[in-house]
Amino acid sequence: MKELELLYEGKSKQIFKTDNDDCVVIRFKDDTAAFYNIKRAVIEQKGRITCDISSMVLDYMNRHNINTHFIERVGDDGQLCRVVEHIPVEVIVRNVVAGSMAKRLGMDEGIVPENTIFDLVLRRSDLGDPLINDHHAVALGLLSYEELAKMYEMSAAINNCLIELYDKVGIMVVDFKIEFGRAADGSLVLADELSPDTCRLWDKETKERMDKDRFRRDLGRVRETYEEVAKRLHNVL
Ligand code: UDP
Repeated sequence: MKELELLYEGKSKQIFKTDNDDCVVIRFKDDTAAFYNIKRAVIEQKGRITCDISSMVLDYMNRHNINTHFIERVGDDGQLCRVVEHIPVEVIVRNVVAGSMAKRLGMDEGIVPENTIFDLVLRRSDLGDPLINDHHAVALGLLSYEELAKMYEMSAAINNCLIELYDKVGIMVVDFKIEFGRAADGSLVLADELSPDTCRLWDKETKERMDKDRFRRDLGRVRETYEEVAKRLHNVL
């Protein structure tokens, strides 16, 4: 595989063409942003660490029969991934109340509901990435009801897999965000990273935040905490 020209550059990733039209290389950057780009920073080594964590997690998912775009790690900060048709919605899976849900519904962070909560968000930063429901997604022509059902089923399986993995390393999966794509045969594929940049992870004993909230809320030791997550995962994988 040969890495060719840059196809796309976003806030935290670069996507490169390869000599195989079915694959791209995704490189993770050290740049970090929150609150619609208002708060920005470069966290040294973050690209390498989030790539490391996300590669371990997606490999774990692949081995547990969850269809992901991840093929293999490429160098320190890259992943060889399958090309898929991106679906512009985010699924947010919540096991514990935190972040925007706590704020929106006036709930305390840390409440553990009986049920798992699935939010659907439209990826439109010009509209502030609004919360939508299944009917909006169908009306917008983004997915069919059948695909939505499949997407929630996969999201639940991904959640179970993530909880099982992080449980081994004393970490609670509070919530996370995932995006999907369609493969050439129309099947849904998890096409996203799963790292402390996109998951809320709390230490089971101390409830210490081990994720991007350290950056968002100025809690300090962002890189060190991400390193700790990587170290714990390496110990069990
Ligand atoms: N999240 C993300 N990208 C986004 C928005 C949210 O990765 O653009 C993740 C976030 O890190 C958290 C989960 O999705 O793990 C739920 O985020 P929430 O809706 O609570 O929003 P936030 O509090 O991050 O504004």
